[in-house]
Amino acid sequence: MTQVYFIGAGPGDPELITMKGQRLISEADVVIYAGSLVNPEILTYCKEDATIYNSAQMNLDEVLDVTKKACAEGKIVARVHTGDPAIYGAIQEQMDALKPLGIEYEVIPGVSSFLASAAALKQEYTLPNVSQTVIITRLEGRTPMPEKERLSYLAQHQATMCIFLSVQMMDNVVEQLIEGGYSEDTPVAIVIRASWPDQKILRGTLATIADQVREAGVIRQAMIIVGRVLQSEYHLSKLYDRSFSHMFRDAKEDVPKS
Ligand code: SAH
Repeated sequence: MTQVYFIGAGPGDPELITMKGQRLISEADVVIYAGSLVNPEILTYCKEDATIYNSAQMNLDEVLDVTKKACAEGKIVARVHTGDPAIYGAIQEQMDALKPLGIEYEVIPGVSSFLASAAALKQEYTLPNVSQTVIITRLEGRTPMPEKERLSYLAQHQATMCIFLSVQMMDNVVEQLIEGGYSEDTPVAIVIRASWPDQKILRGTLATIADQVREAGVIRQAMIIVGRVLQSEYHLSKLYDRSFSHMFRDAKEDVPKS
């Protein structure tokens, strides 16, 4: 029987959790939530006698101790992460610690902040002839980066980039992107607290964005989006093109077949 659910709470707006995530939170006896980013309004879904822990004040061992103890008592644990737990969620180490103990767990996905940022911008990341690739990455912080994933190296692809956890190092981000080959007029958007009531958007170019971030005083909970998709010239998608057939639709008759 599953005893631990790792749940993606979504980017902030409490309505952006999945129905399954909400139901499991409402059924859990113990809820451990990442208080630094998860909207506390999510906790209104908890049942009245649930025990609630904020993992922002706990280390991994403490989280595991609470989880193990609850499981030993036959309780259900909801471990609530921000966005989707697969992206910078540090869930692997928790799951790997539960496995040898024979504690069964499941993961419930959530809306990651890089997607909530696209929604805030009303922007598609994959425009035909501009970019069909999205790179999710971050700058090196206390967590080291594999050498081949240096931002300047990834920038060489000129794909759409969603850069997490890095707005406080904006000068460094810009420097590496330019070093990698992006021109200074490449558009950049910063989405701060996507889907929260105080959501903010900054738009600029690699030449201007570091100053804009400094002026706005942004140091956390922001997504950096870089790439030509943010400019509007592109070719129409093949998916809805009359002459393009796919498994659910034939090409229209008036189009000469090759
Ligand atoms: N698992 C989360 C990411 C956790 S790492 C997810 O899928 O979204 C924390 C980083 O995510 C922050 O530094 C910021 O870059 C980004 N982030 C989290 N919530 C955000 C939000 N509402 N708006 C913009 N960026 C956000």
